[in-house]
Amino acid sequence: MSSELEELYQSIILDHNRRPQNFRVMAESSAHAEGVNPMCGDQLTVWLKMNGDVVEDVSFQGSGCAISKASASLMTQSVKGKSRAEAEKIFDAFHGLVTGHGGGEELGKLKAFSGVARFPLRVKCATLAWHAMKSALATREG
Ligand code: ZN
Repeated sequence: MSSELEELYQSIILDHNRRPQNFRVMAESSAHAEGVNPMCGDQLTVWLKMNGDVVEDVSFQGSGCAISKASASLMTQSVKGKSRAEAEKIFDAFHGLVTGHGGGEELGKLKAFSGVARFPLRVKCATLAWHAMKSALATREG
């Protein structure tokens, strides 16, 4: 592997690909959204359970490459327990990180995806679950 690829596939990404967190269908969700990335073949669904303005629970299921799966897994960990506004703020910071437009220290573990910025085709993989989360957030089913 080249060092750039090594940077892309950091161990945290490989771990979350092997053992994704919150990888399940949510029976009683407030909202859900699907994400499809035909360029790579990634396909996933994100479920949210809102408690007022707070993301009480979040899960995902689907299939895709290591980047898309690990990113979805870390996304669920990042937004769980956060308010709608906080979740949207994390989305913006993460999007900035993978597109090479910043992304600060507050991203913590998500900084493992900074290498994605050098692989434009991978940006869609890394942001797929995040876009689905954001559209689920925008859906008000109750
Ligand atoms: Zn992918």
